[in-house]
Amino acid sequence: MNANELDRFAEKTTPHLRDLAATSEAVRAMYVYDSRYENVPVNRDADLFLEKQLTRTKGVVYKYPGRVIILLSYTCAANCRYCERQDRVGVGLDEEGRLTEADIDAAVAFVGAHPEINEVIFSGGDPLTHPRGLALAAERMAALEHVKIQRIHTRFPLQAPGKVDFALLQRIAALPTTWYLSLHVDHPDELTPEVVEVIRRIRSLGLILICQSVFLKGVNDDIDVLARLFTHLAELGVRPYYLYHCHPIATTTHFVMSLDEEIAIMSRLRERLSGVACPQHIFEMRNTTGKLLVPTDHWNVDLAEVVDFTGAVHDVASASMSVELPHAAASGKRSRP
Ligand code: SF4
Repeated sequence: MNANELDRFAEKTTPHLRDLAATSEAVRAMYVYDSRYENVPVNRDADLFLEKQLTRTKGVVYKYPGRVIILLSYTCAANCRYCERQDRVGVGLDEEGRLTEADIDAAVAFVGAHPEINEVIFSGGDPLTHPRGLALAAERMAALEHVKIQRIHTRFPLQAPGKVDFALLQRIAALPTTWYLSLHVDHPDELTPEVVEVIRRIRSLGLILICQSVFLKGVNDDIDVLARLFTHLAELGVRPYYLYHCHPIATTTHFVMSLDEEIAIMSRLRERLSGVACPQHIFEMRNTTGKLLVPTDHWNVDLAEVVDFTGAVHDVASASMSVELPHAAASGKRSRP
């Protein structure tokens, strides 16, 4: 461990979130360190979704054909207690995780050498905590003829709405690629008037807004809460996109719902919400690749097994298990006949 590394996932909030937490139990649960569950050392070797194994040059994760993830920074405006990247994010690696201009040049060279990549996804940490890196990378990627779509995954506007750099967003929105901005939103309390205004301003710049959410026990494990959240987002012009199963890691087990509980909620949401307000329920398997659509209970399917994008069959219990397996040896894995 170097001098800056922490052995625990740090508590980090913003003045905006502290104000909100004074009245919102959900916001407190999402951001306040809870020693009952979190007094566990960071597992730096974790590679839940093979991001480390599939890193091609610093910060560049190439998992799925045609689209590449660029981890621009390991810093966020605030640390969500259920973050699945807490092997890197919020553990004192901010300097190490911030891509330099040379790193960005290497990332652009990688994408330039892969003409099949048409989509570049900026993530982290939070890419909006590294505005200079985002501007550089966005401009250089946009100059590659085969890059048609760029995407930003961020929670920054919900965490520090007063600090969103609209000049930066305006500059990148003018680039000759289509821009998506994916907000991570988990509870309607996060959509304060200030945040709503930020969303309106981002929309007015021409970025297409989508959102991603995570099922969280004690925060949004409720049909009415999620219906309110997704309806409000759709009304604001933010298309609910993915609603993830939260995987258990050592510090997050208290947030994790069973797939059965999630399916029951998701099925009622599908009945209640308009198609434009209803996200896809996603199960991302550990130690393998593939974001799988979870069926609703309108279908009779065997939920004991899943087939990943490579055709390998896994037991669902193993793909979601709480022990972090060495990624090459996902238990329960066998080939599809
Ligand atoms: S904003 Fe995203 S990357 Fe940052 S702590 Fe929250 S979940 Fe993790």
